Amino acid sequence: MKKRVIVIGATGSIGRQTLDVIRSRPDLFQVVGLSAHSSEGRLLDSGQAFPGAVLALGGAAPHSDRIALHGSDGVEKLIRSVEADIVVNGAAGSGGLRISLAALESGKDLALANKESVVMGWGLLHRSAELSSRKILPVDSEHAALFQLIQRVGAEEIEELTITASGGAFRNLPLEELAKVTPDQAAAHPNWSMGRKITIDSATMANKGLEVIEASRLFDVPGSKVKVLIHPQSIVHALVRTRDGTLYAQLSEPDMRVPIQNALTWPDTLPCPFGRLELAGKSLEFKEVDPVRYPFLELAYKALAMGEGATVALNAADEVAVEAFEKGALGFTDIATIVDRTLDRPWPTRLEDLGSIFDVDSAARDAAQRELAEC
Ligand code: MG
Repeated sequence: MKKRVIVIGATGSIGRQTLDVIRSRPDLFQVVGLSAHSSEGRLLDSGQAFPGAVLALGGAAPHSDRIALHGSDGVEKLIRSVEADIVVNGAAGSGGLRISLAALESGKDLALANKESVVMGWGLLHRSAELSSRKILPVDSEHAALFQLIQRVGAEEIEELTITASGGAFRNLPLEELAKVTPDQAAAHPNWSMGRKITIDSATMANKGLEVIEASRLFDVPGSKVKVLIHPQSIVHALVRTRDGTLYAQLSEPDMRVPIQNALTWPDTLPCPFGRLELAGKSLEFKEVDPVRYPFLELAYKALAMGEGATVALNAADEVAVEAFEKGALGFTDIATIVDRTLDRPWPTRLEDLGSIFDVDSAARDAAQRELAEC
């Protein structure tokens, strides 16, 4: 029987690449639902190839009858009402948490590309997966690599995890020029093709910071055992060190369709037409992260140690600061300053429900706005 798939964020980078994978194996997959935030035209275009799929638009009321559901409730309703085996959550930002919970609560596996879900609501998400006996399958390249490595090496053998970072758009820029870079320069990634916010987050390493939190929680390893290495080629995505000191690495071309296919076919690993790497002639480099160039990374470790409220605040403050940077109201190097000052408050260590998560989220956004006004 074909695996029935719902793709959330179908017009975004993860969503489009998911549809690529699905089109490459029509014998294996059937698209039963598609949603987009606001790109109605592109959602309809994507929907044409999958005539049986229910379409939902997260934003304003659609113009076309083909779109059956709309509004943020509409996307949740799509997930809860349409029968499916797996939901690919490629939504951007904090709204992704409700989508992840809806998937697990309605008894579907969750292929998770929305890191905010883990950073904001890991306690809830984890509980929900246990209650429904469904699986959370990481789609982020580093976490998908760790997931594969841990399965192959054996969780009980693992001493520490390493995720790699490309270093983003400004990895070679002289430090004194960082303060003057523009949003368009920050949004040009050297290796990966991704959405704009996540690309700017790669340049500050906010993205890697969120990924450290994600790795620690997904794989139940303390923050002190999650390392980051700069690796400009983005070919080694993650490594694990076993008790005997040996490192095992996962290597592939930087192509998200590899982790997407692995999540969709789990627990099987099938031949994959994407991302096949030939190593001959390639050089791979690794170096430590410079904390002066990337102050955000330390903030993420600090938030992880502080608890659940602090990681919600870290994410919220980053969203506020990046938005201000995009508008030209904040310098690039001040993004981390705003986040640091926002974090420097007594945030709750545990968050039991969605209400308290979003209370902390909005309190952190207010706090970040106040810091912005003073910056
Ligand atoms: Mg990543």
